[in-house]
Amino acid sequence: MENSAVNKPLLSIVIPCYNEEEVLSETLFQLDRFCEQLSGLAVELVFIDDGSKDKTRDILKNYAIQNDRVRIIGFSRNFGHQIAVTAGIDAANGDAVVLIDADLQDPPEVIHQMIEKWREGYDVVYGTRTERPGESAFKLTTARGFYRLLNRVSDVPIPLDTGDFRLMSRAVVDTLRAMPEQARFVRGMVSWIGFKQISIPYKRAERFAGESKYPLRKMIRFAVDGILSFSTKPLQFSVGIGLVSACIALVGIVYAIMLRLLTNYWVEGWTALMIAILFIGGVQLICVGVLGEYVGRIYNEIKGRPLYVVQEYIGFEQNKPPYFTRSPVVNIKKNEENN
Ligand code: UDP
Ligand code: MG
Repeated sequence: MENSAVNKPLLSIVIPCYNEEEVLSETLFQLDRFCEQLSGLAVELVFIDDGSKDKTRDILKNYAIQNDRVRIIGFSRNFGHQIAVTAGIDAANGDAVVLIDADLQDPPEVIHQMIEKWREGYDVVYGTRTERPGESAFKLTTARGFYRLLNRVSDVPIPLDTGDFRLMSRAVVDTLRAMPEQARFVRGMVSWIGFKQISIPYKRAERFAGESKYPLRKMIRFAVDGILSFSTKPLQFSVGIGLVSACIALVGIVYAIMLRLLTNYWVEGWTALMIAILFIGGVQLICVGVLGEYVGRIYNEIKGRPLYVVQEYIGFEQNKPPYFTRSPVVNIKKNEENN
């Protein structure tokens, strides 16, 4: 590595980008400034182009020509934020790895504080959002509710109001690279790993430009992934409502039999019958649905597909990262062809 020659520890900054042409030049500018302020550390910037449809990849490639700190992982299509982050972690060579969004919502200055904590011996330094200006009231409330619910049902405590903006030591990164699951909820996986973790509060900025790449559909999927990957409580819950409805049904059955044996009113009761059928039918569908979610996940995991497909690596030594744990399908094009 070019950096090992100077014998400074290496910091990798991983930046997932999806259709970020509007904000990217400013991000690159601010990251450059950040790198210049940094002392005692070499830096590599690992960008993941998550199958952008705009000029994101061209902007990154241009930047890579002028700057040998830059590495690019170009996906063959859009694989989603969590997978993009995973690819960055897989390829990063740093003694510490920082995850940061491309939209400048996570201020690069905070990384200085993260590095300080890392030097003090912490393995994970994660940013906790104290303020989130510029987000819709809907996003704020659902996110708040989600992190609290997740923490209640999860078997490992997952810090509240904490995104992926964090620094991780090599030990954590290597552990993460050995975790092969397809449904990836990176912040939860890092909590599961353990080691010495600490939070630093920061004020999350507004998106510098462009729109959120997390529409409601992706948000729900992300939330469901988080809960189902870290808890089997929904299964217990469905057993619970199954039991409750069975008890109610039992009372109904006793009542119906008594009516039949002891009175003359037994032809009536169509309404009660319908309610019982619909209620129990509904409960059953919910429980089967919950079960189905888990079975679907088992199916997905068991296929054992690579997590992502890389179309091109740019700026890496010998054109590709030194190692993989999940052996993604790679179609490496020569650097010269790209320039
Ligand atoms: N992102 C990505 N792939 C996706 C969606 C998002 O790589 O499919 C990136 C995006 O470019 C950004 C980060 O993930 O750097 C966070 O996304 P965004 O800012 O849209 O999410 P929000 O901050 O609104 O939750
Ligand atoms: Mg954002």
